[in-house]
Amino acid sequence: MIYLDNAASTPVDPRVKDMMLPYLDGCFGNPASIHQQGQLARAAIEQARFNLGKAFNCEPTEFIFTSGATEANNLAIKGCAAAYLKKQGKPGRIITAAIEHESVLFSCRSLAEQGWEIIELPVNKEGIVNPTDLTTAITANTALISIMAANNEIGSIQPIIKLGSIAREHAIPFHVDAVQGLLGQAFDLTVMPIDLLSLSAHKIYGPKGVGALYIRRGVMIETIMHGSSQELGRRSGTENLAGIVGLGEALRLLHIEREQFIPQLQTWRDYLLSKIPQVIPHASILGPKAENRLPQTASFLIPEIEQHLFLARLDLAGVCASAGSACASGATTNSHVISALGLNAKAKQTPLRLSLGRFNTAAEIRTIPKLLKEAVNSLAQKVAAKV
Ligand code: PMP
Repeated sequence: MIYLDNAASTPVDPRVKDMMLPYLDGCFGNPASIHQQGQLARAAIEQARFNLGKAFNCEPTEFIFTSGATEANNLAIKGCAAAYLKKQGKPGRIITAAIEHESVLFSCRSLAEQGWEIIELPVNKEGIVNPTDLTTAITANTALISIMAANNEIGSIQPIIKLGSIAREHAIPFHVDAVQGLLGQAFDLTVMPIDLLSLSAHKIYGPKGVGALYIRRGVMIETIMHGSSQELGRRSGTENLAGIVGLGEALRLLHIEREQFIPQLQTWRDYLLSKIPQVIPHASILGPKAENRLPQTASFLIPEIEQHLFLARLDLAGVCASAGSACASGATTNSHVISALGLNAKAKQTPLRLSLGRFNTAAEIRTIPKLLKEAVNSLAQKVAAKV
């Protein structure tokens, strides 16, 4: 199997798994308990929080653990909106981008039903927000700006520092969904103009079902998960102990090893970006130029091919890939990202996302153009035979 769907989920690094195992088998106490078992669990959670603080150059207590980035995004947006409403007495405006992950877009749209005005900024053909559009969209009643660091379907990287500086000039909280951007880029939160940042463990070689939200000290946010007031009162619910340990270790490793493995991913990505349009007639690159693109993501438009058949064919050939966001089905029929680029998903072109990972090998990457070509040819023959 050649696994090229790392943007959907990465394998768990064996070192992360080894760190987690004692917390599944042995140390099982509730971190809120006073006794020794509870305190061991508490210490493990605080060690993980320390790792996050170190990786992001911020106070560990500015991070709270969540069930993943979907929850972190919901909490950032709805929590910020609730704090604004409490202070101002009426809903305001939230600015986001048209290509955000569903957990951001649908959180915003759910607020629209409660009287909030939601502005979804357009992107250019590379999938990038124009900072001038953000400046134009800001009003006196803007409560939050939420823009992702990088897109999950096409790998476009946003000018986060510029956008955050604009937010800061207007004293508006700035939220960044850093789920995809975090692998290739370190975020120094002492210097970067970011107030809220979401991340997820299963995109950085940690386990599924755990993530975190950074909340800059002083930023007002209301809780959306009420209960026993865990996580500094901001997110109730007994903590996912083993998952949090895994997230802490995955981030610690990423922080020290990122620079060793990212250049390799970039080289493989560029090989695929140059080779695939050569071997598949009329195939084109989807998304941004290399300098604006995630190191792990190569995306294409493949003509005259049915999306599901193509992905299934690749699977039979031993290649795990997807057409874009894998959250639902691995397919991008009617993808809002493709539409935002001005492309019609129903046109006779199938998006293909190959997302590379540190556990791929050069030999695997070299065979991909040939395997893709064979898959395209075999489907083309089937179509011809039917006609
Ligand atoms: N944001 C982005 C950009 C993502 O790619 C994903 C996962 N596909 C999420 C948010 C949601 O993360 P999680 O799976 O941890 O809920």
